[in-house]
Amino acid sequence: MDPRVWIEKQRRLLACEENPVVKPWGGKIPMGLVFPNTYSVGMANLGFQLVYSMLNREQDVVCERIFWDPSEGFQPFSLETQQPLGHFEILAFSIPFENDYPRVPQMLGMAGIPLDSQKRLPPHPMVWVGGVTASLNPEPIAPFVDLFAIGEAEALLPELLQKYRFCKQQRASKKQCLEEMSSIPGVYVPSLYRVTYDKRGLIKSFRPVGAAPEKVKRRVASNLELEVPRSFVLGPSSEFESMVLVEIGRGCPRRCFFCAAGHLFHPVRHRSLDSLRRTIKEALKLREKIGLVSSSVCDHPELEGICKEVFSQGGKISVSSLRLDRLEDQLLESLVQSGHKTLSLAPEAGSQRLRDVIGKGIREDQILEAVNKILSAGIARLRLYFMVGLPTETRQDVEQTVELVKKLLHLGRKLTRGKGLERITLSVNPFVPKPWTPFQWHAFEDTSELKSRIQLIQRRLRPERRVQVLHEPPKWARIQSLLARGDRRIAMVLSLVAGGETWEKALKEVNLNPDFYLHRPRGPEELFPWDFIDQGYSKELLWGIYQKALARGSQN
Ligand code: SF4
Repeated sequence: MDPRVWIEKQRRLLACEENPVVKPWGGKIPMGLVFPNTYSVGMANLGFQLVYSMLNREQDVVCERIFWDPSEGFQPFSLETQQPLGHFEILAFSIPFENDYPRVPQMLGMAGIPLDSQKRLPPHPMVWVGGVTASLNPEPIAPFVDLFAIGEAEALLPELLQKYRFCKQQRASKKQCLEEMSSIPGVYVPSLYRVTYDKRGLIKSFRPVGAAPEKVKRRVASNLELEVPRSFVLGPSSEFESMVLVEIGRGCPRRCFFCAAGHLFHPVRHRSLDSLRRTIKEALKLREKIGLVSSSVCDHPELEGICKEVFSQGGKISVSSLRLDRLEDQLLESLVQSGHKTLSLAPEAGSQRLRDVIGKGIREDQILEAVNKILSAGIARLRLYFMVGLPTETRQDVEQTVELVKKLLHLGRKLTRGKGLERITLSVNPFVPKPWTPFQWHAFEDTSELKSRIQLIQRRLRPERRVQVLHEPPKWARIQSLLARGDRRIAMVLSLVAGGETWEKALKEVNLNPDFYLHRPRGPEELFPWDFIDQGYSKELLWGIYQKALARGSQN
């Protein structure tokens, strides 16, 4: 596409948005808030929306959004005033998924900005990175980044800005400024750390130079009641354009052993109904429907009150996924009243043995009971999430996924006198071991084996007309796995991939064996690239849980 046509398209998009912030630049700190994915994905991210709102509330900051779709084939521009990346003083990337890591060097490269953070001096922008991936494992993109904000924006952003202003007033050099900023708890400046490797390629040491702290503590907002993240800007063609998303809580008490969100967002915090009332009122002025967002919507102690509040103001509710052992009739009724036709549940594994190994904590009778309730409430379409390649998984476990789906179909027919469930959509995704979970030591399954397990499910369910099986290609999961547990040497691969090289050739060129990152067994003593983060819980605890999970898997 011709960039001029694209810019015109951006202007039209902006004109259709509700509540964008377009500020004059004069005398302000221009910050480009970058979501390295498409507009539709970025606008559905409440962390991104929150940071946009927080930054633009600052008198001396002008913050513009930058999205990017690589298929467009040219450098990205900001949405608000169509500025290229190089015109900003700070580029703040918000990265929720590791799969978007390759886009950091791609975007910088296309904008003519040096990739190496140490060679990038003013007037080139500083590059900051926040979001979930920064708190999990920032190392694969460490050489491109000046600083990572580890933790929650509410806690970190005001301090970061304050320190940055101070450095500007003092006319500090970039190096001095980064040293200053590294004193803020939660700020990780990768150039202030040296990593050495042993002969086997394992990390031998990971040490700060100068005054940078040895461990970087993940920051947690002390009071979530003060600010309620929601879709501040609403736009056409965003993933949830028909509703306003509102975060009602953060964290999940279950801590399933595979789940990064369950481990990362702690402590579990639920926003009180009192603090949500005003947001609900404001949101309903914009849209009729409110999307309730939390890792554990069903665990919210005031969920019933929240639903009632929305209904009393003439609104409707929506939720993305529900915990199937906490399906209250009241919630189902509210969802039906709101026009929900499909519900999403996540059994994750078909066999009880495997659900126990991964710490899912739900029994088959609870799954059947949940579907019973859903059908009785009048919802006849289900979306079910499963994984393949889980620790200790066998072909029999995969077969049992098929059996479980068949049981649900049978139950549907029984409960509806032969009419049955209208549709079951199975989302079957390869398991990717994530840092900061008990499975961070576990090897990623071979892609051909993953493929054959997915094919087994597809083949066995093909005769069922009402079942659709969707899946993420194992080769993408393989890249995600490489990035999830990669170290800073992976950045060399990312630079080559950004220049158009294939992954395999890039890995070969820099002499890195992908099996080292993907399939190698790891021991308890291994120093991980993300061990410098202080998450508030110990590696020993995770190792203990992992060992118990494996032992449970071999008992049954
Ligand atoms: S219940 Fe869901 S969000 Fe909570 S830890 Fe388990 S998988 Fe994660």
